[in-house]
Amino acid sequence: MSSPHVLIIGAGVGGPALAIAAAQHGIRCTIFELRSSPGTKGGSIMLQPNARRVLDKVIGIPDEMVGKEGFEFDSIDFWWEDGMKIGSVDMSDGGYRSVRIKREIVQRILLQKCAEAKDLVEIRYGMKLEKIKEDKGGVTAYFENGTEVRGNILIGADGIHSKVREHVLGDLAPTPTYSGMVGLGSALPRSLIPLPSPMTYPSFIYTPSGMIMVVPNDPLAQEIGFAAQRSEDQERTRQGWEEYKTSGGLARAIKNDYKDVTTQPVRAMMDNMIEDKVSLWAPYEIPDLETWHTDRVCLMGDAAHAIPPSGGQGAGQALEDAGFMSRLLAAKLSTPSSTNKDNDNDAKSSSTTVNDIDYAALFAHFEKIRKARFESVRTLTKNSGDMRRAKSSFLSTMFRKYSMKVWFTLQGGYYKNDAVLGYDVAAADITY
Ligand SMILES: Cc1cc2nc3c(=O)[nH]c(=O)nc-3n(C[C@H](O)[C@H](O)[C@H](O)COP(=O)(O)OP(=O)(O)OC[C@H]3O[C@@H](n4cnc5c(N)ncnc54)[C@H](O)[C@@H]3O)c2cc1C
Repeated sequence: MSSPHVLIIGAGVGGPALAIAAAQHGIRCTIFELRSSPGTKGGSIMLQPNARRVLDKVIGIPDEMVGKEGFEFDSIDFWWEDGMKIGSVDMSDGGYRSVRIKREIVQRILLQKCAEAKDLVEIRYGMKLEKIKEDKGGVTAYFENGTEVRGNILIGADGIHSKVREHVLGDLAPTPTYSGMVGLGSALPRSLIPLPSPMTYPSFIYTPSGMIMVVPNDPLAQEIGFAAQRSEDQERTRQGWEEYKTSGGLARAIKNDYKDVTTQPVRAMMDNMIEDKVSLWAPYEIPDLETWHTDRVCLMGDAAHAIPPSGGQGAGQALEDAGFMSRLLAAKLSTPSSTNKDNDNDAKSSSTTVNDIDYAALFAHFEKIRKARFESVRTLTKNSGDMRRAKSSFLSTMFRKYSMKVWFTLQGGYYKNDAVLGYDVAAADITY
């Protein structure tokens, strides 16, 4: 079979992961990215066992390659700010640990793997998708700079503000809505944060003003990252959010929220935070989409199902999407140059041509399996986000404190979400 050509829009997390995984089956991908060169917005993310498993088993990025670059851990302790331990959450599964890793390192690893597969993976920067046309023979992507590119199918991995989504849904395409919570991230040298015994890293510390997440950013835990959120009804423009951050406005608002918290390590983090050197995120959400695909175009990652970062699963879901899509494509399109032994079961030799394939049916199966999986993850994210909000009265604060304690005690002090962490894309059903 001649090699198909997959056009991927977006070189964030999911796009490169899909290209790397597909290349193992001899499938050629070109990624188009609007940014003029490689780069990320910075900050760190958490990759949980389900994300590391799909990277390792399906995408072809060995687990050690990721683990050695970040802070690895097996559990997160939950505390009340006065030192009362609420409970612990298990963050490992089946030999895979969680890792907090800098976004730029994740991107470096993905781009390195793309470069290793350069015969089959090309990344073109400065390519902002403008519109898409599809017909019986293929799909054409049109870019703002006047370039037109033809491929067999197109995958929209272009994030929450997806342009591809507009093509798939037309007038039904939703506009992302602001979630009403704004987040602040910052980091300090470990020496500036007095961690009272027996607290260890990583910890989630609950206070009457909300929850603070404290997780190291590097393998030796020399740099401690922390994050806090606050409810803010006022939505700002992109520039407005930027000014709110760089002027120190957000940091001052958060410091004010936590002014009455006198206990460590929260006090030291607030006092030592450099007001204009923080990161800000204002999560946007999209409702459930009517569909994720057309005959030749399919959405994945945040473009299909963006969720707030509170569950630490957005990139994980984009990676799972990439892994599952690569298995579906491999089963139909794999060429003899396939090199991934682990995935050879998925690869069928076929006498069909790339244009005989019913891509709409393939995408429909992708949507069916991935939507169901995403639902369970979204529930976790919502619960986690709700728990971070400040409570408005002493009574509701105390209710949260003791109801959490009781809940954890009923679980034996230790909770594990097997369904989220134990998911294995390699075992997901690719028959339809
Ligand atoms: C503060 C914060 C913390 C987070 N923490 C975590 C965490 O701990 N764990 C976790 O798993 N997830 C986390 N996430 C979520 C995670 O970052 C996203 O879910 C993930 O990046 C989605 O990947 P994606 O590939 O779908 O989209 P993105 O990574 O957003 O990539 C989309 C790419 O498409 C490009 N693009 C957009 N439009 C066009 C166009 N028209 N033409 C060409 N290119 C285009 C963009 O420039 C971008 O490079 C966090 C998010 C935030 C904001």
